[in-house]
Amino acid sequence: MLRVAEQYAGTDTGRQRRANEDSVLARSPLFVVADGMGGAQAGEVASRIAVESFQAGLADSSHPELELAELARAANARIHELSHSNAEQAGMGTTLTAVYVGEEEVAIAHVGDSRAYCLRDDQLLRLTDDHSLVDELIRQGRLTPEEAIEHPQRSVITRALGPEGVVEVDTRSFSARPGDLYLLCSDGLTTMIAEEQIADLLRAHPRLRDAGEALIAAANEAGGRDNITVVLIRLEEVEVGEGFAVEQGATMVSIPAVSAPPVTQVSRSTQPQATVLGAAAIAPEPTRTPRVPRPASAGSRPAGRRRRRLRRAGALAFALVVFGVLGSGAYLALQSVYFIGTNSRGLVTMFEGLPYRLPGNLALYSSRYVSGVSASTLSPGRRRKLLDHSLHSESDAASLIRSLELGQLE
Ligand code: CA
Repeated sequence: MLRVAEQYAGTDTGRQRRANEDSVLARSPLFVVADGMGGAQAGEVASRIAVESFQAGLADSSHPELELAELARAANARIHELSHSNAEQAGMGTTLTAVYVGEEEVAIAHVGDSRAYCLRDDQLLRLTDDHSLVDELIRQGRLTPEEAIEHPQRSVITRALGPEGVVEVDTRSFSARPGDLYLLCSDGLTTMIAEEQIADLLRAHPRLRDAGEALIAAANEAGGRDNITVVLIRLEEVEVGEGFAVEQGATMVSIPAVSAPPVTQVSRSTQPQATVLGAAAIAPEPTRTPRVPRPASAGSRPAGRRRRRLRRAGALAFALVVFGVLGSGAYLALQSVYFIGTNSRGLVTMFEGLPYRLPGNLALYSSRYVSGVSASTLSPGRRRKLLDHSLHSESDAASLIRSLELGQLE
């Protein structure tokens, strides 16, 4: 599977504007560039709302294209609504180019004239069509790309988030490869320097920070007429980690020990039940590594099936006893504690509930957020510390994962 090996995000006001109306989000595996427009700081407001709509990441990354488009439409509705409630912000809007790096593909959602490119085998491929007047004219054959460069209406866009109650969002999935370098940028880069120069600078600077700074400097040297935003992402291949997946296997997994559960900062009154359920109700085996389920041999199928059925009935009775004894507070408790583990694909994941499976494969947890970080990319020490299944409040777990995604974890 692919992962983000290196990333850079930078934004610059340029040489002629007073304010920077661009906004940028780099939260691996999700990256967003938004270029706002509108008087009296309205452009800043619009682009910030667009980016904030993506802040929480994708809830479930199984259909990233659809989810990105959904988040873009939600941002559109928010910006549109605000522009109607405030005269100073009337008519504000923003472009949006959002990229989600999946295991094999890069999903893109796009509105306006900010762009996404891929540098592959030293060739620069443009992945988005501008929703701009000059691009429409080029597509209709009424303007050549050369004429477009100096066209007086080159910054007029035909689609944006905000001006209308409903927006059409372009999406695509691009089959990614290890070594791919992706560039997201606002038009402050692409109206100042040609694509050949962009490609030359990317090829000349192997380190993404150097490449990003060189692109911004080149746009400024060419005049810096607009705000310049650059995001760079390099992908590499990683092996999926083994041995610490919570959701590994479909049959019973041994219960990792949580000795004296370190429940910290859980403020709800249901916390004591969580501790009781964690420590006493389920006799934990003194191991932290889930046992890999043994495949059933072909000859023993009827007996195996009977055993499974018995086990399931036993589990159900056991669960009923547990929940009966502890009352509905136990159920509530499961919903107020969180822990960090890995999902079946080895990605660091935030789970809601307790890190246990009852006999019969009844999980006491569910996945709440899947990060783009593969556990196999962590050092053994960090892996042990982060994936120790200790319980957290929702905000603590979320901020741990966020720090991890931003590369800021100690
Ligand atoms: Ca711009």
